[in-house]
Order: sequence, then C-alpha cells, then structure tokens
Amino acid sequence: MTDSPPLPSFDWPELKPGWVWLCGAGPGDPGLVTLHTLNAMKQADVIVYDALVEPAILDWAPQAEAIYAGKRGGKPSAKQRDISLHLVELARAGKRVLRLKGGDPFVFGRGGEEAQTLIQHGVPVRIIPGISAGIGGLAYAGIPVTHRDVNQSVTFVTGHDQSGETPTSLDWQAISKGSQVLVIYMGMKHIARIAGALLDAGRPASEPCAVVTSATTDAQQVLETTLGTMEADIAASGMEPPAIICVGRSVLMRQVLDWQALEAGAAPRNLDPLDRGLPAETV
Ligand code: SAH
Repeated sequence: MTDSPPLPSFDWPELKPGWVWLCGAGPGDPGLVTLHTLNAMKQADVIVYDALVEPAILDWAPQAEAIYAGKRGGKPSAKQRDISLHLVELARAGKRVLRLKGGDPFVFGRGGEEAQTLIQHGVPVRIIPGISAGIGGLAYAGIPVTHRDVNQSVTFVTGHDQSGETPTSLDWQAISKGSQVLVIYMGMKHIARIAGALLDAGRPASEPCAVVTSATTDAQQVLETTLGTMEADIAASGMEPPAIICVGRSVLMRQVLDWQALEAGAAPRNLDPLDRGLPAETV
C-alpha cells in the first residue's frame, strides 16, 4: 500500500517549511485517517510518529523521513520533553514537520503539552484532530458511546497518571456516580484497582463492561464481561494492550450492533438488548 489515496479537490492548507502540524492518525484502520492528515502526509519532509500509529499509514508518505518517538514495542522510550524539543529543532531547520499521534492528539496524547512547547519556542503549529480510540474503537466493536436509553453523559478516564500509577487525583466515587458510561484508556495494567474502586463506589458487580484491544485493526479483539468478573476474564483471555474499556449498559447494544459479526454472516444475538419492547426510535 504505497500509493496514497488521492485528495478530492479543495483548497487544502499548505504545510510550510518551519511549521509543525500535530495530526491524529485515528485508532488504526487507515480508512479512519482524516483528509487533513492525509494532506499533511503528502507534504511532510519528516513524520515523527508514535507507537500506536498503524505502520501501513506511513506508507502513504514515502518521501518523508519517518522518526519513531513511541514508548512501546521494546524500543527505547523517548522522553516527552526530548520529543518536543526535537520537533522544535526540526522546525527550526526549516523542515515541514508532521507530528503523527494515535487517535486524537488532544485526547490522552500529550498533544497539548507538545503544542505548548512548540508555541513557547515560537514554532507555528496547526492541530488536526483524529478519531479517538474511545469513540471510534468502541464503534468498531458495535458499542455506541452514547445511546439515548442509556446515558446522557460519558466520562473519559485514564488508568495511568504521569507516574504510571492509577491516577490518585481521580475521585472514583464522583466518577462512578457522575456518569452512566465510563470509557477508560490505558486501563489494563491497573484494571484490578480500577474495577475495585468502581465497585467500592457502588457500581454493581453485574454492570456490563467491554474490553476492546487493537480496535479497528485486523487484530481487534472484544471481550464482553461485567465489572465483577472483568479482571479474571481479561487474565483468562490473554488480551494485551492497547485496550479501551467501556463500563456501562451501552455495552449491551453490541448484542444487536456487532456489525463485524453481521458482516461475517452471524445473526444478531438480540434485537432488543435494552428490553425496550418498542421499536428503537419510539420515544
Ligand atoms: N490519543 C489517543 C490515546 C492515546 S493514550 C486516542 O485519542 O485514541 C493510549 C491509549 O489509547 C491506549 O493505552 C489505549 O487505551 C487507547 N488506544 C489507542 N489506540 C487503541 C486501539 N487501536 N485499540 C484500543 N485502544 C487504543
């Protein structure tokens, strides 16, 4: 896949020498890259990319030097400050710089910090949002992140803080009470503590949960479980990060909306998983 898709005619912005564009690459499936990111890829001299960027996407920019700045995959980890300063250097050297980040650069992606450092150093930036794993990844699993009969709010939570520990700054009691649906990023390592905190805060052990690993890629796996059994079920499944964990009744909708299973020929498991007893769109 070296031929990059053509861009439709439009007044596409120019990535100028000395600029850095922070672009989202989406959760994995190359089809979820935005046209603005593709436009950037066609113009970049250098692409500084993260571990969670699907490598096939980089094939669309054969002219660009690709620099890995990720923190996974057994490769040495780059320090955040060093990455940001490297971007400053590349921009000052007159390169057209594309900083490519998994999902959306401003969702648990340190895009805000990188952009701030660039601007503090006088480097002009453009931000190109992407499809975040916590929304698009769940959609690929057939889970709508909001659903009128389930939730009027959704809370995105990180399972790690800067120290790599469960975020101590999070008030799990308030989070549990405040939102019917939680979408947890980076939750695998501390799943026992997170599930324990939610149970302590009064969420029922029977609450539906889903774990979606490598969402939107060929390696996508989905586990349907409950808050009480999630830790054991994950361990038994052998599933590995990256994972999005969804806590809440919207997970039940997968019984009807698992479109990948339908595409593979399966019948819907349950046409009315929320037991409405009414056609889906009646009030
Ligand atoms: N900026 C990214 C999130 C970066 S934090 C975004 O908007 O999606 C990294 C975490 O994102 C991972 O630990 C995992 O929780 C989640 N993640 C990213 N890509 C994923 C994928 N394809 N499948 C499942 N989880 C993913």
